[in-house]
Amino acid sequence: MPAPALRGLLLYERIANAQAEFRLNNSGTTKPSPPKIIPRADHTVSRDEFSKSALKVLYRLHKAGYQSFLVGGCVRDAMLGLHPKDFDVATNATPDEVRALFSNCRLIGRRFRLAHVRFGREIVEVATFRAAANHADDDHAHDEAGRIVRDNVYGSIEEDVWRRDFTCNSLYYNIADFSIWDFTGGVEDIRERHIVLIGDPDKRLREDPVRMLRAVRFAAKLDFTIDDTVVEAMRQDRPLLANVPAARLFDEFLKMFQSGYAEKTFELLREHDLFSLLFPATDDEINKDDAYLAFVRAALRNTDKRVRSNQSVTPMFLIGVFLWKPVTKLAAKLRSKEKMSESQSLSLAAYELSGQQQRRIAIPRRFTVPMREMLALQPRFAHTRGKRALKLLQHRRFRAAYDFMMLLASVGQFDEDTAQFWTRVQNESAEQRGVSFQVTATKKGRRRRRRRRRPSQAKSPS
Ligand code: ATP
Ligand code: MG
Repeated sequence: MPAPALRGLLLYERIANAQAEFRLNNSGTTKPSPPKIIPRADHTVSRDEFSKSALKVLYRLHKAGYQSFLVGGCVRDAMLGLHPKDFDVATNATPDEVRALFSNCRLIGRRFRLAHVRFGREIVEVATFRAAANHADDDHAHDEAGRIVRDNVYGSIEEDVWRRDFTCNSLYYNIADFSIWDFTGGVEDIRERHIVLIGDPDKRLREDPVRMLRAVRFAAKLDFTIDDTVVEAMRQDRPLLANVPAARLFDEFLKMFQSGYAEKTFELLREHDLFSLLFPATDDEINKDDAYLAFVRAALRNTDKRVRSNQSVTPMFLIGVFLWKPVTKLAAKLRSKEKMSESQSLSLAAYELSGQQQRRIAIPRRFTVPMREMLALQPRFAHTRGKRALKLLQHRRFRAAYDFMMLLASVGQFDEDTAQFWTRVQNESAEQRGVSFQVTATKKGRRRRRRRRRPSQAKSPS
């Protein structure tokens, strides 16, 4: 195998050549460059890997005389022996033609319409082939940095392939004969476990800087290496991530951190200096404080464990972890200026910092509000005596706040014995809790004492 740098060059050349050939062919009268077609006998992708619903859609389109392919992540994952869960269909049928074939179909998207065909809870997405962004007489608009802001021209499969991001995401599975169509060398890159951008890496990242995050996400999930050509372009274009609308980054945040590969994604984001663009306040602190970095890693590992064992996860928890250190610092500052409780100061600081974070990543309020509550409850775990401490068990955010506290304890940032106390009391009866929190005894004792001291009052109804 050639050295990595040379390999990168060769890859780049291969794709550039294929694209050049495509453009050349398309500008003349000859047909566009043909794909490498891998017949069923020569690949390992079996129909068993695809959902019944996806197959139904594919077959119906095919029978109606349209081209009908599975494309993208599902083909890639099936080839890797992972079990794909969502299915993207690509066809030359227009959205209206797709709708005419399926009664359970809804068209979504205003500029570029997609068909969603619904089977119970499963949705199969059907997209009409789109033309490449660099096509001549097109309707693509770019902003000054080269970012695509409009992308709505139908095309052929030969055009559709060039607007996809990575070679591993550009394989088409043809339902007509179960072959795989490979225009970009994707099969080889999957075999070599390489993330390679289709076309000129710099141009493709400028068109859509989110592709940098996607590269990292796929590298983490698939255990692939990001190709040197892509790494180099990422180094150059990383500031462009700032141009991406905050709303889009929240979706990407969820995919990066709630798919079971959060820890690895985090390490790769740091390695490529992208984490600082997403969570600047967090990045500042983890670079200064190893204990906080250990806490963040523990939270990510824990999230991955939960996802993989099908336990529920909520983005508010990780966001709370990412903001914890900046929040505690700001809270301390607030307390030094004004008299307020620790909880109050944490709540105020969390409000301020989640506001700042939302300008970068549009985290919906339904996550930031409970996150603030979860953080503001933390000081209350230090108190284990009395009614107020007991009442914490009933708080609607107790569960999340408790998990958060346990995580702090697991990395030595909260007292281990106190943490165990809170674990224990959850399984206790009301009576036992009374003893644990020294509530019942105190109450009765006080009453008895009172009665003894003022016997006349004890008779009055209360
Ligand atoms: P997964 O579903 O595991 O996240 P995926 O590859 O299916 O991976 P999707 O976001 O579902 O990712 O996108 C489906 C396909 O659409 C991709 O495989 C790729 O071909 C194309 N695609 C998605 N996002 C982009 C993008 N930002 N730029 C270019 N092509 C994209
Ligand atoms: Mg997908």
